[in-house]
Amino acid sequence: MCVRRVRMERIGEQSPDVWSVEGADRELHEECGVFGIWGHPEAAQLTYYGLLALQHRGQEGAGIVSSDGRRFAVHRGLGLVTEVFHSDYLQRLHGDRAIGHVRYPTHGGNRLENVQPLVFNYRGGELAVATNGALVNAEALKHHLEQQGSIFQSSSDTEVIVHLMARSAHDELVEAVKESLRLLIGAYAFLILTNEKMIVARDPNGLRPLSLGRLGEAYVFASETCALDAVGAEWIRDVEPGEMIVVDRDGLRAQRFAPVARRAICAFEYIYFARPDSNLEGVNVHVARKLMGKRLAEEAPVKADVVTGVPDSSISAAIGFAEASGIPYEMGLVKNRYVGRTFIRPDQAKRELGVKIKLMAMRKVVEGKRVVMVDDSIVRGTTSRRIVQLLRDAGAKEVHVRISSPMVRYPCFYGVDISTREELIAAHKEVEDIRRTIGADSLAFLSLEGLLDAIGRAGPLSGLSRGYCLACFTGDYPTKRV
Ligand code: SF4
Repeated sequence: MCVRRVRMERIGEQSPDVWSVEGADRELHEECGVFGIWGHPEAAQLTYYGLLALQHRGQEGAGIVSSDGRRFAVHRGLGLVTEVFHSDYLQRLHGDRAIGHVRYPTHGGNRLENVQPLVFNYRGGELAVATNGALVNAEALKHHLEQQGSIFQSSSDTEVIVHLMARSAHDELVEAVKESLRLLIGAYAFLILTNEKMIVARDPNGLRPLSLGRLGEAYVFASETCALDAVGAEWIRDVEPGEMIVVDRDGLRAQRFAPVARRAICAFEYIYFARPDSNLEGVNVHVARKLMGKRLAEEAPVKADVVTGVPDSSISAAIGFAEASGIPYEMGLVKNRYVGRTFIRPDQAKRELGVKIKLMAMRKVVEGKRVVMVDDSIVRGTTSRRIVQLLRDAGAKEVHVRISSPMVRYPCFYGVDISTREELIAAHKEVEDIRRTIGADSLAFLSLEGLLDAIGRAGPLSGLSRGYCLACFTGDYPTKRV
């Protein structure tokens, strides 16, 4: 049984000289966000709004596949959602069902053929797939499939599941998907669209978030609840780990494709990736971040004049730190939101300049002051060093760095671009060495217990991880590593 990728996209243009600024000011990147809607006459338009709300999860490419029940319409491109989609493209995305995707290219490179949803000819019909996450055993499965004659046309993990489905002995799509999902190890939230149905699945550990909502008669799925809010949908529940949901003209049916494995939603979703207005498994991200900052102030107090946070993801934690410490919160760092995503390709000197253009220290706020700079994480250490220097250049008398997560010592295999220990400063250095490297007057990290208490979780889950993946802090991975 063979499966063939379909090339039906218009190509978003991007100059070879543009360079993503994201790498200049942030060190961690999520791999993607997904959105799907079934049963709404403006499915593509709403998917566009949903993707805009998920833009923070991936800025390198975006795509929408829609269907009217008879045929697909597809548009994908490199760039931001607003760069990829123009109103005439959206009008051509007909039908009452659609899936969409925003991408950060951790795996597979920044090439158009890797921009999702990927579209295939599958057993005589059209099939589109959009995923968030990464498979730990993708290479092993791919090798196995290639030996059996499969030909891959992208370097995306996503293609693996379609080849597995194509080789399934089951004729019925839902059974073929279920059988294929059972072979996957890793983190994923899948949306699959055919002309007749939408199939949605979340990995058995629940590493990546996925929520279900309702908009009138329509069903809506999104990586984060902020995208449900953006389209006016009501949150119904989160898709359960190991759960598969099928939506078609007979309505919505949920079933398990695997028992719940060790429950382990990514702790970094709360620390950094998710938008503050999202709720993940019932916990509001802003509230959790504020509590991280509060706990950090209790664990690592410091005498200072002003608290500031690195925008945007550390603002909530900085507010929590300020409230708990009694030190006033000030906007000591300002992000330029209008620079856009790209610059002319830099040499190293221009790269340093790029950071200054994107992030500025407020001289009026920090000059002559003892500043607490709250950030969400230190990965390689280069960004922290630059920000400390920005504050010193603006006249800060002292810079005390407080990190609202524990030390990142281990790589992530689940779709976050920290893939080797070598690149992690905390894998090789202790706190004092890191402090010296980034040039801070003092440095402290939130404890693991502090993090878990801050996120909290209602219900009976217990044990050290309390239902979260903490592997990049502890090295204790929730899945097998292949
Ligand atoms: S290893 Fe870290 S970044 Fe990766 S899924 Fe686990 S908590 Fe998230």
